[in-house]
Amino acid sequence: MRELEVPVLIVGAGPVGMLMAALLADQGIESLLVEQRDDLHLAPQAHVINTRTQEILAGIGVTDEALAGITTHSAEARFVTWRQNLAEGDLARIDIGSAGYLASMAPASSKRTANIPQHHLERLLFAQVSRRVRCQTRFGHAWQGAEHSGHGAVSSVKDVATGETYRVRSDWLIAADGAGSPVRRSLGLPMVGETNLAHLITINFEADIRHLVKESPSILFWVLSAAAPGTFIVHDAARYSVFMTPYFPEYESPADFPPDRCERILRAALGDRHLPLRITSLSNWTMQAHIAAPYSQGRTFLVGDAAHRFPPTGGLGLNTGAADAHNLAWKLACVIKGRAGPGLLDTYGDERKPVAETNSRVSVANHRKMRQVTAALGLDEDKLPTMARLRASAPARALPAALRSAVKRLLVAPIDSRTRKVQRAATPGFAGIRRNVQLAAEAQMEHFNTLGLDLGYVYRSAAVCGGGAAAPMASNPVLEVAQSLTPGARLPHFRLQGAPGSPATSHDLVGHGHFLLAGFGRHGKACAGLAESASQQLGGVAVHAVDLDAVTHHADRPQLSAWNLGLPDAAILVRPDGHIAWRHAAATDARLEDVLGALCRVLQVPVPSREPLPSGARPVAPVS
Ligand SMILES: Cc1cc2nc3c(=O)[nH]c(=O)nc-3n(C[C@H](O)[C@H](O)[C@H](O)COP(=O)(O)OP(=O)(O)OC[C@H]3O[C@@H](n4cnc5c(N)ncnc54)[C@H](O)[C@@H]3O)c2cc1C
Repeated sequence: MRELEVPVLIVGAGPVGMLMAALLADQGIESLLVEQRDDLHLAPQAHVINTRTQEILAGIGVTDEALAGITTHSAEARFVTWRQNLAEGDLARIDIGSAGYLASMAPASSKRTANIPQHHLERLLFAQVSRRVRCQTRFGHAWQGAEHSGHGAVSSVKDVATGETYRVRSDWLIAADGAGSPVRRSLGLPMVGETNLAHLITINFEADIRHLVKESPSILFWVLSAAAPGTFIVHDAARYSVFMTPYFPEYESPADFPPDRCERILRAALGDRHLPLRITSLSNWTMQAHIAAPYSQGRTFLVGDAAHRFPPTGGLGLNTGAADAHNLAWKLACVIKGRAGPGLLDTYGDERKPVAETNSRVSVANHRKMRQVTAALGLDEDKLPTMARLRASAPARALPAALRSAVKRLLVAPIDSRTRKVQRAATPGFAGIRRNVQLAAEAQMEHFNTLGLDLGYVYRSAAVCGGGAAAPMASNPVLEVAQSLTPGARLPHFRLQGAPGSPATSHDLVGHGHFLLAGFGRHGKACAGLAESASQQLGGVAVHAVDLDAVTHHADRPQLSAWNLGLPDAAILVRPDGHIAWRHAAATDARLEDVLGALCRVLQVPVPSREPLPSGARPVAPVS
C-alpha cells in the first residue's frame, strides 16, 4: 500500500480545518488536509462571523475588502423579524445591528460582526490554503481509520474516485471532521451535554423573495405558524435563502419530508403559492449541546464541531472553532519546532473547553428563551408534536391527500386567524398581545449581540502566568466586553499612530507565530533589549518588542493605564494568539530573568543558563 509522510494530517476541509492548515503553514508547518467531499459546499450554514474570527482571518491575509465582497448587505442584516408567514405583516421586529450597537464595538475591535454565508467564507479560506505551498489539500479523500502510537498516527485514507486506499504517517492528527467526527469516534472520546434539543429539516432554496420582505428586510425571519413553523435565514433575498422547520422523531422521520412536501411547507411559510423557486438541497440535523471530553488524546486533537456542537442560536459554532484553531496552531508549531515542551499542548483543551462550555450554555438558553415570543403570542410550542402525531396516525394516513390537507387547514385556520388579528391589532386586546410579542422579541438581544462572548474570555492555564488574577467583569458578559491587561485576556484593541501602511491597531502587532513584549511607562523603552536577549537565550524563539508610548494613538493612550488597574507602568508578554501571557506592572524595572521565566513557563521549557546559546541553537530537542 502506498504510504505518505507528513508532520500534520488534518481531517476535514470545513472552515476550521482550512483555517488550521493556513495558520500552521504561516508558522512553517506542513500539513496534508483531506476532505471526503469532492468539492466545497454549495449551500451555507453559518452566517454570523464575529469580530474575533475576522481578526483571526486578517492574520492569515483575508482582507476587509474580501470579506465585504461576500457580506450580506448590512441594511438587511440589521434586523430580525417575526411573522406568521413572509407575506404577512410583522408581529415583532428587532434591530440587532443598530448604528449605536456597531459603534459600541469600536472601542473593542477594528472589525464588526457581519453576516457572511459560510460557503462563501469557505471559498475565501480555500483560496488562502491553495496559495500556501506548505498546505496540500485533497478533496474526495476520506479518512478511514488510524493506528495511534506515541510517535503519531498511521491513517488509512481512501481516494473516493479511484477506490485506492493509502496510508498517511503523521506526527500529529487534527480532527476537524465536524460534529459526527469519525476521528473522535474512533478514539472513543465521549461527547457530554444535552442531546436532541430539536430535530430540523433544512430546505435550501433559490427564489427572489424581495417583494415579500421589502417592507422589513431582515437576516432572520421567525415564522410563528402552526402550518409551517420555522426560521428563514435570508442570505440573499434576490437569490437564495434557507428555511428550517422542526420535525418530531416520535411520529415522523426525515423520510416523511420528500421534496414535494418540503415545497408545500416552504410555500406555506413564504405565504406565496406561486412564487418561482427551486429547492437546491434538503438535509436534516439534530440540535445538540455536546462537548468532547477530553479535547485530545495522545497526538490527536479535536477542533471545531468535532470538539463541540451547540445550537446555532447565537451563531457561535464556527466562530468558536476558528478560535480553537488559532489557539492550537501556534502551540503545535512551537512543539514541532522544538521551541516548547509537549505539555504546552495540554493547555489547548484547558483553555478552549471552558469557552465552548460557556458558548454552549448561552446557545441553549437562547434556544429555550425564543419560546417566550411564541408564548407571548399565545401559541403553545408543545402542541406542535401533536400535529405531527395526528398526521402520523393511522386514520390520517388512510385519508386521501386532498382530504388530509383540508383537515389540516381546518385545524390551523383558527390559530392563523387569531395570529392575523394580533398582527393587525384588530382590537385593543390583540394590540396588547402584539405589544407583548414585541417586548418578548426585544428580550432576545443576547441571542444576537455577543461581543462579550466573542472577545471577553480570559484563559487560565499553564500557558498563562498569574492566570489567577481577577479580570474586570462586564455588567453583561454576553453583550459587553471589559478589556484589560489581565494575563489570559485578549490583548485590548487600541489604535496605533503611524504612516499609512504601517500597523493600524494593536492586533496588527501580534500573530505569525511570534511573541510580543510590549511596554509603557518606565518599561516601554526597555522592551526592545529584553525581547532581543530573551529570544537569543531561547535559541531564537521569536519575540518582537514595542514601546507602546511611542506607537499608541494619542487618543487611546489614557486607556493603557485604565486597563492596567490604573497603574502607569506595565510590560506585557503577548502570545502569538493575541492573549496576554504575563504582566509586570510593578514600579521596578522588568528584568531579563522575569521575561525569560515567563516565556519558559508558557513554553514549558527549562530556563536556560545565563550563558547565551550560540545563535540558532535550540534549548530543547524537537519532539519527534
Ligand atoms: C443552521 C445553522 C446555522 C449556523 N449558523 C452559525 C453562525 O451563524 N455562526 C457560527 O459561528 N456557526 C454557525 N453554525 C455552526 C457552523 O456551521 C459550524 O460550527 C461549522 O460548520 C463547523 O465547522 P467545522 O470546520 O468544525 O466542521 P464542518 O463544517 O462540519 O466541516 C467538517 C468537514 O469534515 C469532513 N469530513 C467528515 N468526515 C470526514 C472523513 N472521514 N474524511 C475526510 N473528511 C471528513 C466533512 O465532509 C466536512 O467538510 C450554524 C450551523 C447550522 C446548522
